[in-house]
Amino acid sequence: MILGVSFSCWSSISNVAAVDGPEKPTTLPAENPFAAPSPLPLHAPAFDKFRTDYFLPTFAFGMKQQLDEMNSIASQADAPTFENTIEAMERSGVLLTRVDNVFSNLTSAEKNEALQKIETELAPLKAAHWDNILLNRRLFQRVEKIWQKKESLGLSEEQSEVLKQRYESFLRAGARLSDQDQGRIRSLNEQLSKLETKFEENLLAIAKERAVVVDKAEDLDGLSAAEIAAAAEDAKGRGLAGKYLLQISNTTRVPVLTSLNNRALRRRVWEASADRGLGRNGGLDNRGLVLEIAQLRAERAKVLGYDNHAAYKLQNQMAKTPAAARKLLTDLVPGVLERVKQESRDLEAMIKECGESHELAPWDWEYYAEKVRKARFAIDEGAVRPYFELDSVLKNGVFFTMNKLYGISFRERKDLPVYHADVRVFDVLDRDGSQIGLFYADYFKRDTKRGGAWMSSFVDQSKLLHEKPVIVNCLNIPRPAKGEPALISFDNVTTLFHEMGHALHGLFSDVTYPTVSGTATPRDFVEFPSTFEEDWAIQPEILANYARHYQTGERIPKALLDKAISAKKFNKGFETLEYLAAALLDLEWHSLTSEQIPADVELFEAESLKKVGAGHPAVPPRYRTAYFAHIWSGGYSSSYYAYLWSEALAADAFAHMMAKGGCTPENGNVFRKEILSRGSSRDPMLSYKAFRGSEPTVDALLIRRGLK
Ligand SMILES: [Zn+2]
Repeated sequence: MILGVSFSCWSSISNVAAVDGPEKPTTLPAENPFAAPSPLPLHAPAFDKFRTDYFLPTFAFGMKQQLDEMNSIASQADAPTFENTIEAMERSGVLLTRVDNVFSNLTSAEKNEALQKIETELAPLKAAHWDNILLNRRLFQRVEKIWQKKESLGLSEEQSEVLKQRYESFLRAGARLSDQDQGRIRSLNEQLSKLETKFEENLLAIAKERAVVVDKAEDLDGLSAAEIAAAAEDAKGRGLAGKYLLQISNTTRVPVLTSLNNRALRRRVWEASADRGLGRNGGLDNRGLVLEIAQLRAERAKVLGYDNHAAYKLQNQMAKTPAAARKLLTDLVPGVLERVKQESRDLEAMIKECGESHELAPWDWEYYAEKVRKARFAIDEGAVRPYFELDSVLKNGVFFTMNKLYGISFRERKDLPVYHADVRVFDVLDRDGSQIGLFYADYFKRDTKRGGAWMSSFVDQSKLLHEKPVIVNCLNIPRPAKGEPALISFDNVTTLFHEMGHALHGLFSDVTYPTVSGTATPRDFVEFPSTFEEDWAIQPEILANYARHYQTGERIPKALLDKAISAKKFNKGFETLEYLAAALLDLEWHSLTSEQIPADVELFEAESLKKVGAGHPAVPPRYRTAYFAHIWSGGYSSSYYAYLWSEALAADAFAHMMAKGGCTPENGNVFRKEILSRGSSRDPMLSYKAFRGSEPTVDALLIRRGLK
């Protein structure tokens, strides 16, 4: 799971296939806590009142209610105005949003079988719901009439942006097409959703099929006793008692490659991973599926009036065009290749040092990189962690920084109900003591929580709906033994700052309309505020305040800290190149017209990587075509570049702020006003320029990644 932010705003846009729904209830019983706004402060969720069996009927009722609202907007006799149409749409679906915001975080943070079942049942209903709205011709005609006379309406900047997003969401769903073409879109959507699901199912089966069986324990030399025991256990689970099973991971790289001493076995494992989905040795073949998905996406883009799928997907993103996204990536390639060259020289020297004479193959990279890392940056995690006690990192690090920069403070309260005993709640107060919102912190790992870290909202800020933000951060920090302090890794320190960046994006939101509130921004913008806040964690003045030994109160020794920071920049050439190769591959596949879809997946992949200059014999793409789940089934088609795009903004913004005095209230005020408070209420590049005075460059990104 990525470090993420979850989107669950029902006023926002989706593009989905039509499915028929079940009977919809006409009322909700009064004891259903979703029937009315929560009586708690800031409409915080009444977690003590929810029952699992409330969810499905509440969703069904909420969908019906919003559909009724949309139908009455569409059928009113008055001529369309911004207020009676766009604003009325913004007011719709309040109950649906209320239940979905709670439900979606519960299914991530405190899942059980019953919730899982409801989630599966809901998926097609949610999909059909938005088709029912966006393909409503009468509704679209009203929106279009407003759009056509927008210049004469005296709309504010935010209203213009809301109108634009609403209008585009109809167009992007196919609202203007003929009945025949709309039928074609529905059918393409339906086929695609089936193929994408099939791709995902295949991937699970392929991962199982490609796991490597090892006969003898001595071949596993280099793995820890625990890893060997796990491999034996996995083999037993497959009826192969006495043998060992090495699993492959999602990415081309496989974790065991860092430590397996047997080079022939390393090669077997790497090939099992990198050649998956190609139908080798009678195994599952994903290639036909990929070609079909690419074909249908290209056809859909054409029907919708776009050159290709990438042009369609990026039209409403910050990059706007595939060319702009591609430029960011290809501009970095030469510098990254230079760094990869240095790194490979170090690895080749290490191969010699180990008394061997073979070339550096992809299955060697991580193995020798680990040896170089140990020699140069050997960090004893156990020595570092006592300086990172969770509560100190949170209060003296994260909250301290947010106070210095934005003047806000956090005050814990114990009176609000929570969904798990681990969850803590804080009032977030502005400089003048007024309340900005509520912040829920759910930091410890548990079985009912999915992996990764994310931010989500229970209530989205909106002046129209008189709502202040109620925000949650979830992490997966290992729980300490009872009575012991939570001493956390440096990675988790960074993650705390990162997720607080997402939280502030929700908390500082100061907009009128829900569609543009908080983190409801383009995908290539949303990781910008979070990545930006990460870099405070290593500023000396901040560190001095929080990185103190939990027993003695001593500051972390500089040598130890320097090592921990340098270690984070190690192997960045390899990591950046494998990412760039995958991101460019994604854009290449989705820049094809339906006539250009090739017949040979592997040939197209090789030629594409060569064309963009990102092909390297020892550094394969992070994901190869046949198992690139982000782009074939994960919602990131044409968008894998977005991570680096956001990071480029974050690095540039941080460098700019450091040049202007660093962590000061003046700097914080500008960032809050121009970036964090705006949501997507104006074009993101305009917001960026308002903060920065110019467009970003990639210089700071290169430094951040240790590439310059
Ligand atoms: Zn994130």
